Amino acid sequence: MDNKIIGMMKWTVLVDNRTNDPALQTEHGLSILLETERHRILLDTGASDLLVRNAGKMGIDLSTIDYVFISHGHSDHAGGLKHFMAMNDKAKVIVTTDALTGKFYSKRGHLHSITAIWPDIPKARLLKIGETCEVATGIHIFAHIPQVHPKPIGNQNLFVETDEGNYVLDEFRHELALYTEGFLFTGCAHSGLENILAACPYPIHTVVGGFHLLDGYETAEDLTALARRLKTQYPYTQFFTSHCTCNQAFEVMKSQMGEYLQAFCCGYQHPSYRTKI
Ligand SMILES: [Zn+2]
Ligand SMILES: [Zn+2]
Repeated sequence: MDNKIIGMMKWTVLVDNRTNDPALQTEHGLSILLETERHRILLDTGASDLLVRNAGKMGIDLSTIDYVFISHGHSDHAGGLKHFMAMNDKAKVIVTTDALTGKFYSKRGHLHSITAIWPDIPKARLLKIGETCEVATGIHIFAHIPQVHPKPIGNQNLFVETDEGNYVLDEFRHELALYTEGFLFTGCAHSGLENILAACPYPIHTVVGGFHLLDGYETAEDLTALARRLKTQYPYTQFFTSHCTCNQAFEVMKSQMGEYLQAFCCGYQHPSYRTKI
């Protein structure tokens, strides 16, 4: 009786680092289409025009999407926005000012820019988020996520350039998370997966996104402890990850979480029955 189905949603991975479908291409990026009974929301846009090409191969019509959510300013999430906007003339863009104006760099390997090239976004379509809010009926956005729990160690390679031309560690003021109807999208979870979960006061049945757990950073003990905490604190929540969750990190967490942790990849489609929690 408690798990009565009260709604339905579907999510489809348009861009990811991995795929099982040889017809689709991959890139280092993330883009997911979330369809609920109320909204069609594009969650991030990948790095390039790949979302448009993959959507075409999957028979997905991008012109009817009504919101685009940009989780943070890195180019692997926002780089596809200009290509998407060429296909869609109505979707509102949910993003922070810090993401639009920041200059972002990675020091993995050599120092290189990961700043997105942004299209011109008409004012009427721009929903600039400065604080946690319900941006449209049932769509909750979390901003300035309190960082109480550990953050990904891989963040130590990520910098913003100041007006004076200095590189300072990125505190991820430009990052947002999105929640609607039991579904929580983490982007890359640079703010820390547990911090994002803690910022969400609503019941969560599904968590989807990258967890920014790069191989060789968190120890197996750290990852085991994280997985155990997730299992204890969110025993009914199903976690799905890929993109910046690397294979070893995934396997360690999976060994603790079992069926409650799944991998997605490009082309993955998930019907998700919204149940009363
Ligand atoms: Zn990122
Ligand atoms: Zn990313």
